Amino acid sequence: MIYLDYQATTPLAPEAREAMLPWLSGPEAMGFANPHSPHRPGRAAAAAVEVAREQVAALLPPGGRVVFTGSATEALNLAIFGSKPSQLAVSAMEHAAVLDTARASGARVTVLEADSEGLVRADVAIPDETDLVAVMQVNNEIGTIQPVGALAERARAIGALFLCDAVQGVGKLQAPEGADLVALSAHKLYGPKGIGALWIRDGVDLAPQIHGGGQEQGLRSGTLSPALCAGFGAAAALSAARMEEDFAHIEALWARARELLAGWELNGSAELRWHGNLNVRRDGLDVARLMSDLRDVAFSAGSACASGSGRPSHVLRAIGLSDRQAKSSIRIGFGRYTEMGEIEDACARINAAAAAQGV
Ligand code: PLP
Repeated sequence: MIYLDYQATTPLAPEAREAMLPWLSGPEAMGFANPHSPHRPGRAAAAAVEVAREQVAALLPPGGRVVFTGSATEALNLAIFGSKPSQLAVSAMEHAAVLDTARASGARVTVLEADSEGLVRADVAIPDETDLVAVMQVNNEIGTIQPVGALAERARAIGALFLCDAVQGVGKLQAPEGADLVALSAHKLYGPKGIGALWIRDGVDLAPQIHGGGQEQGLRSGTLSPALCAGFGAAAALSAARMEEDFAHIEALWARARELLAGWELNGSAELRWHGNLNVRRDGLDVARLMSDLRDVAFSAGSACASGSGRPSHVLRAIGLSDRQAKSSIRIGFGRYTEMGEIEDACARINAAAAAQGV
């Protein structure tokens, strides 16, 4: 099986797994202790959580704090509901975790349109009365990189907070500049599933969304998992240490895949893009048939979060694709553990399967 679905999730780094194991140990080693207990094993677990918090915080700018959550979706809910906006501006490119949460918040919502390259323009109209602007760093479906630094400045100029969903960018690119709130997810940066975080700029106050024992600085009650925190922390530290090496590897894979899939149309900007995301289309392609012909290549038809819904992707429509074009698109996602031979093999098989369809 060739795994090419790195936007849906990434493999767990062996280093992250190693860091988790002591906190999953049996009764003798006491790794199971509650990190909120004041006794010695509890304090040891709490210390591991704080090391992990520092490791995650190191991926983000100074001047903020990290609150662990169960996922990026939860972090985004905390940011949106917790900042109690009455007027929200969200980009058309956002993940459902932002779009649906914005709609559920009861605030008035303005959608910031994207252009045909999949980019929100830095001078897009933002209503003056907006109190929260949300624009993602890297789009999960087509990989385009949004001008979040400039948009964060625009938000500040009108007195609004700026929320950045950095799930697909953090640990791969430099952290978004100027944001007040940043959501991230361990499983998109080679850490475990079941843990995310919200980075909160100092001075920004949020209302808690999960009430109870007051853990996570009173913002997110519930016992933390030291194993998940330690895995997240180790994955973050590894991503920081390997950022350039990973980047260069992905550039090489991208260049080869583009060469091999030269007959395919690229969806979204080629330059302002995370190159581990190759979203391409071919007119007349039956994607369902392609996927069933290529059962040992794991890739995606549109976003994994939306796949199975039968609906064409809102992102591909936002960049002006017709339903037919959106439905003839595939997303090939690769990363740190993808080998050049795997990309070559997968592209050859994808081309052959498309050719068998006569497209
Ligand atoms: N935001 C983006 C851009 C994503 O790609 C995803 C996951 O696909 C999420 C948010 C949700 O992350 P999580 O799985 O941690 O809830």
